[in-house]
Amino acid sequence: MESIGHLADVILASKRLVIFTGAGVSTESGIPDFRSPKGLWARYDPSDFSYQNFIASRDARMRYWQAGREIYATIRHAKPNAAHLAMAELERLGLLDAIITQNVDNLHQTAGVSPERVIELHGNATRVRCLSCGRPFSRDEIQARLEHGEAIPACALPCGGIIKPATILFGEAMPVRETMEAERRARGADTFIVVGSSLVVFPAAMMPLHAKEAGATLAIVNLEPTPYDDQADILIHGKAGEVMDWVLQMVKARIPHLAPSTSAGRQPTARA
Ligand code: NAD
Repeated sequence: MESIGHLADVILASKRLVIFTGAGVSTESGIPDFRSPKGLWARYDPSDFSYQNFIASRDARMRYWQAGREIYATIRHAKPNAAHLAMAELERLGLLDAIITQNVDNLHQTAGVSPERVIELHGNATRVRCLSCGRPFSRDEIQARLEHGEAIPACALPCGGIIKPATILFGEAMPVRETMEAERRARGADTFIVVGSSLVVFPAAMMPLHAKEAGATLAIVNLEPTPYDDQADILIHGKAGEVMDWVLQMVKARIPHLAPSTSAGRQPTARA
């Protein structure tokens, strides 16, 4: 509780708050992470998610789409949880500079964070693109084709090119613009909060180090220890939804005009 109050104070004093999220921020929305015991690596072979295999082998593409069909069915129906909603509320309070996310589930945007403040380091699973002609597809359309029995969906003829979700596979180059922007925001942050990341996937996991090196206060909120816990100024081992909701409530309680007794007055009211 003490560190949650401390984090709320730091957020309120912050001029540039950057939040860095990983798969752990979405597990409370029902989307498994990779490395927890019930995570995706317990059920799938990571080599089916390698860019090189995806491009080179029809079999690998077939296995990728089999897994993708199952994973996307979960992502598509997932709803933002208390952590996503707390972050969106921090933006509404004027306290958020940016969210750098490793997630591909679009839940920060669904929660109401302005898309221009969400930097997606590993892409977004709701979009698909043809690697030959660049034609865009919605992932929902491709999902319908998979559910109708297509094993390896391809671009329309005469192109017939390989289509691929707009997510970054293992071995694939990081998106240049997003990576540079994330690094710039991390270095510009005065407060940097990691939420729900094992901090073992690089180069994404460099972001907290960039922030710390540039002088930010570093907070880590994660269920399990991470390799950077000893660098954190504030370390909270707990569930992202609970912790971020408590942090938000403490932030709001410290903003005088948002104190609970007056909060009803924030609702828009009709004027005579
Ligand atoms: P990870 O699976 O390596 O680590 C997740 C971390 O979150 C773990 O340390 C775990 O202890 C913690 N965690 C799990 N549930 C939590 C909760 N409720 N509250 C707080 N912490 C919790 O995930 P990562 O660090 O993001 O790296 C893996 C890669 O997986 C990323 O590149 C990401 O793109 C991808 N991924 C994304 C999604 C998604 O979009 N939701 C899902 C799975 C994997």
